[in-house]
Amino acid sequence: MTAIAIIVAGGRGSRARAIGPTPKQYAMLSGRPVLAYALQRFTEHPGIARVQVVIHPDDKALYEAAIAATAGAAAKLLAPVTGGDTRQISVRNGLEAIAHLSPGHVMIHDAARPFLDAGIIDRVLAALDTHAGAIAAQPLADTLKRSGGDGRTIAATIDRAGLWRAQTPQGFRYGDIREAHVRAAAQGRADFTDDAAIAEWAGLPVALVEGSERNFKITTAEDLVMAERILGERTETRIGTGFDVHRFTSGDHIWLCGVRIPHTHALEGHSDADVGLHALTDALLGAIGDGDIGQHFPPSDSRWKGAASHQFLADAADRVAARGGRIVNVDVTLLCEAPRVSPHRDAMRARIAAILGIAIERVGVKATTTEGLGFTGRREGMAAMASASVSLQVD
Ligand code: MG
Repeated sequence: MTAIAIIVAGGRGSRARAIGPTPKQYAMLSGRPVLAYALQRFTEHPGIARVQVVIHPDDKALYEAAIAATAGAAAKLLAPVTGGDTRQISVRNGLEAIAHLSPGHVMIHDAARPFLDAGIIDRVLAALDTHAGAIAAQPLADTLKRSGGDGRTIAATIDRAGLWRAQTPQGFRYGDIREAHVRAAAQGRADFTDDAAIAEWAGLPVALVEGSERNFKITTAEDLVMAERILGERTETRIGTGFDVHRFTSGDHIWLCGVRIPHTHALEGHSDADVGLHALTDALLGAIGDGDIGQHFPPSDSRWKGAASHQFLADAADRVAARGGRIVNVDVTLLCEAPRVSPHRDAMRARIAAILGIAIERVGVKATTTEGLGFTGRREGMAAMASASVSLQVD
């Protein structure tokens, strides 16, 4: 049955110790807005058909930035709808917005919980086979105290047996939860803090499924620091390599690592034949396991005839960014007898750094002859090899 995810991102976070002027769901977490993490989870999950985000009307630019930082989100993403003054109203707006899609199930999630995992989504979806609703929750580990009238002294210890902390996602049969929301609003009930409470009020049976300690809600600056630490533990470095060859033909200049260099010959190719940028583009694509330059920019496509190759490299950098990756360093080796590369080395490094948006000290360019051996030695063409390292978040 089709499930649509509603991500609630309309809040303003007026709580004490809030995180600066940016709403917490858009605070930067390891270089990406917090919302991007949950968005990625839902769009990647095969059980989720579409994703509806509910935003504050003032946050359109922040929302667009979060979308840009989420690889592959566009395919499942519905146009955002705006929320209301309370979470309850925002969820209801999200529910109304997807009515025309007649979803079987809906999963409602707080944008400020970036660390939900696919297993939680699986468990909530599975429980909906037998229940009208199901929520991720964790059994309470701390002993609970109730304070007395002064708010400072213990008046009682609460038995924690059977007590759970409610998380999101919270999944429901769409028709049931929508009707419950409509009825609650009609009866002037505006005090529900989660959707399970509305379901409970409406008499719907709601299952508890295992959430996770990591699936916490970012509310304070301290929470954001903890989230950064968790991501730091989940970072790994990926390496990619690339190799390319182009043949010399008649002409008076070549393009090499984005720099135009006068030469006795030109390089032949469908694009500008920049052998250095082609090898480097493949190295970046290799580091993120995203095919190769020929797949993304096929020579059979007339759009790329004579194209300047910086576009290919910029596209690879965008693909890295869309996965939340960071380019650590790149290195290019050019193989040729001529032209001499060293006079142009720093211009090439600067050009590559500018295209990739990284510092020049992260870019290496060097050249070698092949001692007169092989096709490069016979000056029939040039070759280039490249490597790239990318820092990526992993599960
Ligand atoms: Mg090439």
